[in-house]
Amino acid sequence: MSPSPLLQSADRWQGVIHRYAKYLPVTDATPRISLSEGNTPLVRVDHFVEAIGGKFSLFLKYEGLNPTASFKDRGMTLAISKACEKGAEVVACASTGNTSAAAAAYSARAKLKCVVILPHGNIAMGKLSQALIYGAETIAIRGNFDDALRIVRELGGTGRVEVVNSINPVRIEGQKTAAFEICDQLGRAPDFHFLPVGNAGNITAYWRGFQEYADRGLVETTPRLMGWQAAGAAPLVEGKPVAQPETIATAIRIGNPASWQGAETAVRESQGGIDKVTDEEILHAYKTIAQTEGILAEPASAAPLAGLIRAVHNQSIPEGSLVTATMTGHGLKDPDRALKTAGVEPTVVDPSTSAVMKSIGM
Ligand SMILES: *Cc1c(COP(=O)(O)O)cnc(C)c1O
Repeated sequence: MSPSPLLQSADRWQGVIHRYAKYLPVTDATPRISLSEGNTPLVRVDHFVEAIGGKFSLFLKYEGLNPTASFKDRGMTLAISKACEKGAEVVACASTGNTSAAAAAYSARAKLKCVVILPHGNIAMGKLSQALIYGAETIAIRGNFDDALRIVRELGGTGRVEVVNSINPVRIEGQKTAAFEICDQLGRAPDFHFLPVGNAGNITAYWRGFQEYADRGLVETTPRLMGWQAAGAAPLVEGKPVAQPETIATAIRIGNPASWQGAETAVRESQGGIDKVTDEEILHAYKTIAQTEGILAEPASAAPLAGLIRAVHNQSIPEGSLVTATMTGHGLKDPDRALKTAGVEPTVVDPSTSAVMKSIGM
């Protein structure tokens, strides 16, 4: 029997290494551990722009639709593939949740032992359940993300485990593919790109991606990168580490970003900026994007949307601009937050059509 046309099709999406190999540090000898990540939708959101009074086009890169529901899969496919190539047997990461979900999933697929170190009590339920069900050794420390990262760095120093945090440079290489995809999907580079900033690996990666596409002549311009931190966890805005970072946006609850330099370079070279928004502004944006566009992203992903609302007030985006923003993780990671923010409960009625009609005012 001959294989089905689908199995042979060169068009079948097979993940970011397969698609962008020539831009990545891989060879034919590199094993490819993939869950077909990437190729996420770029969704035009005119209703949201109208709701916030903007006069530009906005497209959201919906990274919550990756296999483990965040952009972390782009870097993790590469980090785990390279760990296999090196012959590693154990990988480890510190995480605010999404890195651990991705590390656990890709390690399962690669048959590697995976150790994840998390800040106890500050991980969204969806992310914790992912690490556990994918079978990672899950350690919750009585400390914050910055403590977890310090421990993982020390574990890496023993030479016995491969660290798959973004201090591992191949993570950044994998994550730059999101910038490639945005250019491929638009047929040009945007004028501005908005994204949340926590450990600052992603803003570093996007700048690298946009620059590489421009250097190769695939696009003519590069966007200004606009990074957004949460007010209680804004070391890059304040210019110094924050000892006790606090925000409801747990994915960016980081006081001492590992890619500090990368973020500063991205902002300086792209003529962009880094600023902060309050939790209240984040939650307002989170609810607005859900209710105007049907897009549920996690609170950290709403930080750049809150930033856009600010930008409209400050009139800092010229009319007619092409703007993109990354929705870094899926809102279903944290259903508790959705329930609390919706602020309503289901209406309970008797099982009759008349009771339902009365209840909905018909
Ligand atoms: C990791 C993460 C971030 C922050 O990205 P950095 O590269 O650490 O700046 C933002 N949002 C979500 C959902 C994340 O998982």
